[in-house]
Amino acid sequence: MNRVLVPLRLDGAAPPLGARSCAIGGETMGTTWQVRWVASEPLTDDVVRAAVQGELNLVVAQMSTWLAGSDLDRFNRAPAGTWHTLPEAFATVLGAAVWMADASGGAFNPAAGTLVDLWGFGPGPRYTDPGFELPEQPAVQAALAHTDWRRLRWDAGSGRAQQPGGVRLDFSAIAKGHAVDRVAQRLDALGVRSALVEVGGELRGQGFAPGGQPWWVDLESPPVRQAGPAVPTTRVALHGLSVATSGDYRRAFTHGGAHWPHTIDPRDGRPVSHGLASVSVLHGSCMWADAWSTALMVLGPEAGMALAVEHGIAALFVRRERSGRLAESITPAMDALSE
Ligand code: ADP
Ligand code: MG
Repeated sequence: MNRVLVPLRLDGAAPPLGARSCAIGGETMGTTWQVRWVASEPLTDDVVRAAVQGELNLVVAQMSTWLAGSDLDRFNRAPAGTWHTLPEAFATVLGAAVWMADASGGAFNPAAGTLVDLWGFGPGPRYTDPGFELPEQPAVQAALAHTDWRRLRWDAGSGRAQQPGGVRLDFSAIAKGHAVDRVAQRLDALGVRSALVEVGGELRGQGFAPGGQPWWVDLESPPVRQAGPAVPTTRVALHGLSVATSGDYRRAFTHGGAHWPHTIDPRDGRPVSHGLASVSVLHGSCMWADAWSTALMVLGPEAGMALAVEHGIAALFVRRERSGRLAESITPAMDALSE
């Protein structure tokens, strides 16, 4: 292991000796979830499981692109010009997503659904389907016409948003992170002060692990495609902290000798291809870690690094060099957490 990251302050008391160490897990959002916690309270696993599943189900019911009849699906299918009152979680995520789109010049784009579908990563024909064909440029151009997030009119105060016509929202790059935050908050409300929450690789730790240690987590590192050394392991103490990783190896396909990751650059309508293998972001909120990791993954090593530095974001970039080696760079905010 070559890097250890710890928060600058540890708050709160460690769980008492003898506290029970518990773990549950399940499936959601096409992936898995896991919660570990330290029980010094008389809470049964069933109570915790029901609370966790309740939060995850709420996110799916509001924001899934795959669930016909979710609030997001209904918004996507609604006629041009109609206004919709958004449920609270949906409105929170939309607000953050629009902010991220503005800040990243559209590299992160919650209105990229039409493009995501076109490249086979949405609920329509999948890149895994037999006979799936890569889209031609005219189809990409046509999809781009529906992806301008600035056409969305919405009023944060009343939580209402207007479907401008043909905009397909896709929150897959931010909703998992929000789900992690919701689960963590719900556990806290139940009196569980020490927990590690994970949904599909996005994580949040709060309080302490059994034995009074912080929750130690190794950042996901990209698989090495060609012979060469793997990147060093980065181990983080998740104490009131979240981490999200976007990677070119997650849900990607190879076609015509090229590698097509499921992260699309909505500015040219094509999967990203600038050689970043992954971006991990540490943030107090998992929703923001998730959104930032995708935004930086799209922006690439140079523009991504510049934006992360400008906003004081703690990020780790892993690039694939021409030689096949993986090379890392970290922002000053990440460096400040290094031991
Ligand atoms: P992961 O699902 O591996 O955590 P991300 O958080 O980066 O990865 O989310 C990727 C998903 O987000 C894609 O499958 C797609 O649905 C959607 N997406 C792809 N490109 C963008 C983009 N530029 N902005 C917003 N969402 C995107
Ligand atoms: Mg993301």
